[in-house]
Amino acid sequence: MRQSEKIEGEVMFKDLPVDVGVVYEGERIRSKEMFVEFAGPKSFGAELAQTRRMDEIQDGKITIIGPEITEMKEGGRYPFAILVEVAGEKVEKDLEGILERRIHEFINYVQGAMHLNQRDAIWLRVNKESRKKGLTLNHIGKAITRLFKAEYPFIEKVQVTFITDESKVKEFVKKAREIYGERDARVRGIKEEEVDKFYGCVLCQSFSPSHVCVITPERISLCGAISWLDGRAAARINPEGANFEVEKGNLLDPIRGEYEGVNKVVEKRSGGSVKRFFLHSIFSFPHTSCGCFEAIAFYIPEVDGIGVVTRDFNGLTPFGIPFSTMAGQAGGGVQISGFTGIGTEYFRSKKFFQADGGYNRLVWLPKIFKERIKDAIPPTLYDKIATEETAPDLKALKEFLQKVNHPITERWKEKVPAAVPQMAEVVEAKNEAKASERPEVVAPVALPTAMVPAAGGIKIILKNAKIYAEKVIIVRREEKK
Ligand code: SF4
Ligand SMILES: [Zn+2]
Repeated sequence: MRQSEKIEGEVMFKDLPVDVGVVYEGERIRSKEMFVEFAGPKSFGAELAQTRRMDEIQDGKITIIGPEITEMKEGGRYPFAILVEVAGEKVEKDLEGILERRIHEFINYVQGAMHLNQRDAIWLRVNKESRKKGLTLNHIGKAITRLFKAEYPFIEKVQVTFITDESKVKEFVKKAREIYGERDARVRGIKEEEVDKFYGCVLCQSFSPSHVCVITPERISLCGAISWLDGRAAARINPEGANFEVEKGNLLDPIRGEYEGVNKVVEKRSGGSVKRFFLHSIFSFPHTSCGCFEAIAFYIPEVDGIGVVTRDFNGLTPFGIPFSTMAGQAGGGVQISGFTGIGTEYFRSKKFFQADGGYNRLVWLPKIFKERIKDAIPPTLYDKIATEETAPDLKALKEFLQKVNHPITERWKEKVPAAVPQMAEVVEAKNEAKASERPEVVAPVALPTAMVPAAGGIKIILKNAKIYAEKVIIVRREEKK
């Protein structure tokens, strides 16, 4: 049992106008119910946890830079930043990443407050009901201050700053991105072969009960917020907590990245739902995805290539669907061949989907993201990877790849590989998933054109289909002679 669960129901939040507890963690706030919204896809923001010297901060101090909720209009949307500063004799800088990730969970304990995602992708809502009871940012600050101190008794001081002033949030986001970059860079250069342990995380099981993150030095968590070093720091301070050691065990497949120890842990921690993980492939047994992935890697059967769409991309993938629809299909802790959530730092991994062909298999990226990670992409491939501009749909994608002579075109001359997942498998896997494992925002399977190959010379083409069936059974009708 986690420390934070024990504190539920205790008197520590009696002075707040709303309840605070684990019970509210899964609470969703839809746009109809919301009073105000902070950051998110239509605005911007970031969160940071920073360690300080004892004399640098004041315990319990909560500062709001910009308007408080009391000064906001119903339905408003504001840029937003959260800075949590902590101090204590035993507080180590190495813990910043892990403490930062808990902001998400602790804000979600507050009744009527919803926090999604992490780092510069945060998205918060406060509902009308809690606002009516008097909930303010100051109260949320008080709640997270107390939760941090209860969960990590070695933290002696916590100071929280919320920023809602647009220009100040802008400055904050810029600084935060530099800090994220420095944090991510620390782990670059460490290889999976050089370490004897990986780390696991089950923080997202409150939303995706069968999801387990396995974090290696060459595969950052899919939320992008927990690196191997962060996992190690967290497991050291509380080995029984949500972050734990994963003994690698025997290496079963060095290319796909399959380890006996990883499989064992994944099976145990997923309650038996997932039995194998290929850490460096999106086919067959890919890493599961909860809902807070920074990006989704997806197989494109029509060109036998892999595309990646990032959370901040508002346009359409070549399938004609946006990130949000694909997130509904790929998330929820269900293992689906051909889809996996990734942290964007994984693009810098030497093992980047190495079992599938690595960068030689990458055919599509949002333009802005492609520019952002230019230095990670092999220079000879950079111009050969399509974007929404050069390939807005599947037909254009195929033509583009042909025109630039992308290495994928070599594969077209060979036979279709055995590991190619079919959309039918995707549909079946989603339908088999228990309702409780699905993310809250489940989009129906709605690929613009899903081809379901079937034996017997028939082909079913579903155009802009929305499939709600529990099961689809296709039976050949005997012709009467
Ligand atoms: S996405 Fe993975 S690493 Fe990140 S908080 Fe969730 S379970 Fe942990
Ligand atoms: Zn998650």
